[in-house]
Amino acid sequence: MTIQPIETRYAGHRFRSRLEARWAVFMDHMGIPWDYEPQGYVVDGTPYLPDFLVYPGQEGQFWLEIKGGFPTKDEVAKAQGLAIGTEITAFVYWAKPEPPAPDLSHLTEEQLNGWDQTGYVWTDDCGWREYPTLPPAWQLDLWPTAYRLNPSGKPTKIKSGFHWWTECAVCGHIRLAVSGQQGYCPRFDRMTSEEIHRKVGRLYPRFGHRAPRVLAAYNAAKSARFEHGQSGA
Ligand SMILES: [Zn+2]
Repeated sequence: MTIQPIETRYAGHRFRSRLEARWAVFMDHMGIPWDYEPQGYVVDGTPYLPDFLVYPGQEGQFWLEIKGGFPTKDEVAKAQGLAIGTEITAFVYWAKPEPPAPDLSHLTEEQLNGWDQTGYVWTDDCGWREYPTLPPAWQLDLWPTAYRLNPSGKPTKIKSGFHWWTECAVCGHIRLAVSGQQGYCPRFDRMTSEEIHRKVGRLYPRFGHRAPRVLAAYNAAKSARFEHGQSGA
């Protein structure tokens, strides 16, 4: 027996699943432009139709592949092939459309990184190197949300993990950022670090995953009702 999700109509699109439609509602609520299934590709001999292209044609555009659960190795490999082939970063996102973490703004930089407990590992190039033996305490209650696949094919420091929708408090740009950290928003590129510090204050640690606009969008996504469904589930 096989089961398939029923198509969901929203904003003139026929989404393959209700979950995808909820993410479209989420992005619409924040004014983030997206295309749904704009282009199919053959990745390593297999046809692949990625779900969303977010900020299409703009600086910082990215693929967003929505999964209902933790992706398989094949799914991650396909998204990696897509990122390399199109030279556009791809995210495979499997967490639910709800805030992925509580308010963490009380955390200090040390608590955020949790590197107070260290062990040692031998590396051929550097000899003995310190590494953290315990994850930061705040992370233990949380689940990872997504994979990030880079166009270079090289993993970022964190490939699978805490990628959260994060609003820049300065320009309002929303992107998927590790641990909801604003860090250096792409739109800061023309500012020197002194200018940023003077105008904006420090950018790390600084959380943007529970900005009011983001929380409201999660709410809208969760409570959206679509055609052909009574429960909205
Ligand atoms: Zn910004």
